[in-house]
Amino acid sequence: MISVQTAREHILASLTPPKITHCPLTQAAGRLLAESIHAQTDLPTFDNSSVDGFAVRASDVVAAPVSLPVVADIPAGQVAALTLQAGQAARIMTGAALPAGADAVVMVEETDFYHQAAGMKAPAQVVINKPVRAGENLRPRGMDIRRGQEILRAGRVLRAQDIGLLAMLGVATVPVWKKPKVALLSSGDELLPVEAPLEAGKIHDSNSYMLAAQVEQAGGEVLRLGVAQDYREQVQALLEQAVQAGADVIISSAGMSVGAYDFVREVVESAGTLTFWKVNMRPGKPVAFGTYRGIPFFGLPGNPVSCFVSFLVFARPALRRLGGFETDQASPVRVQLAEALESDGRESYLRAQVSHQNGLLVAHLTGHQGSGNLFSLVQANALLIIPSGVKSCPPGSEVEAWLLED
Ligand code: AMP
Ligand code: MG
Repeated sequence: MISVQTAREHILASLTPPKITHCPLTQAAGRLLAESIHAQTDLPTFDNSSVDGFAVRASDVVAAPVSLPVVADIPAGQVAALTLQAGQAARIMTGAALPAGADAVVMVEETDFYHQAAGMKAPAQVVINKPVRAGENLRPRGMDIRRGQEILRAGRVLRAQDIGLLAMLGVATVPVWKKPKVALLSSGDELLPVEAPLEAGKIHDSNSYMLAAQVEQAGGEVLRLGVAQDYREQVQALLEQAVQAGADVIISSAGMSVGAYDFVREVVESAGTLTFWKVNMRPGKPVAFGTYRGIPFFGLPGNPVSCFVSFLVFARPALRRLGGFETDQASPVRVQLAEALESDGRESYLRAQVSHQNGLLVAHLTGHQGSGNLFSLVQANALLIIPSGVKSCPPGSEVEAWLLED
């Protein structure tokens, strides 16, 4: 049996590098940026007014109040054909291009044209009540961003405001890391889909639903293959479906151990290889990794807690790596045990509730640690990691833990 560490290193070393895809901006939220983005234009792209008012030359209104003829009316979206001459004003709206010759805008509130209803035509003459400084109420070209400037760095998860800025810059598609497509299958004659009524001796397939959620949290795209009954042809048919669909990774649960109906291992080895099928850990010992027709294959244990834990320990780092994330491992925290722990010497992942007490993180186990007891995992917010070789920990000792909340 190999160690958790060796197994994980082997898995990560066997993966192909992540791939870049160009994603339409409308689908880019939450995606991981694969290349840094540089601005292809200045922002704003032209000098424009930040208020509704009158474009002037500041030197003409030093002695305000002054009355000026209004020689143009410039709504947003239009460019004035003329150059403003000394002693002239142009009505201008917020976001409209500043006419040549003007160097400031007087807010409409500072003129005798204030309190006019929407739709009013520009007046022939306007009284400017207050002087303005040159540059006032303007957004000059390049004020926010200069062409060539790096605006978003590779490795960032795109947020709504990032997407808005990309749209401002006219970036319609974004280079992001391709999400690994993960085919999920469950195996076992006892399994029914969640919506089917239970029959004698049957249970609902819970692993594939749980794994689908874990795959999405790890940045993968889920391809559900459903349940393979416990016979060779069915297992093979589903694995072939994964190949046809272009899966980047296949994850199956159950059917890998030594039971009379455990065919998964045999079928995978008929068209691929398994590098290991047992890891020195608890829960999750019967976990396998290899390839099926060249596609990385994870054979996770059937017991739901083992399935969850072995996904976190082995599959999650692989999916994060394939999805272009820089860090593939959650970082552990130190916690103090509130009670004594027994372990069997294998590297163990124990379900616990961790809370802050007097500046320390203190851990209590949640319920019994049977690998079918998913409820104790639901009550947990952490997994305590007991290293291999350790058989007991007294109350008050410190161990490492992974916090489960995102
Ligand atoms: P196996 O690895 O096939 O021997 O299964 C081990 C245990 O996990 C058995 O109790 C199975 O019923 C259970 N199990 C297997 N697959 C699933 C699944 N998809 N959802 C819930 N329990 C499962
Ligand atoms: Mg089974």
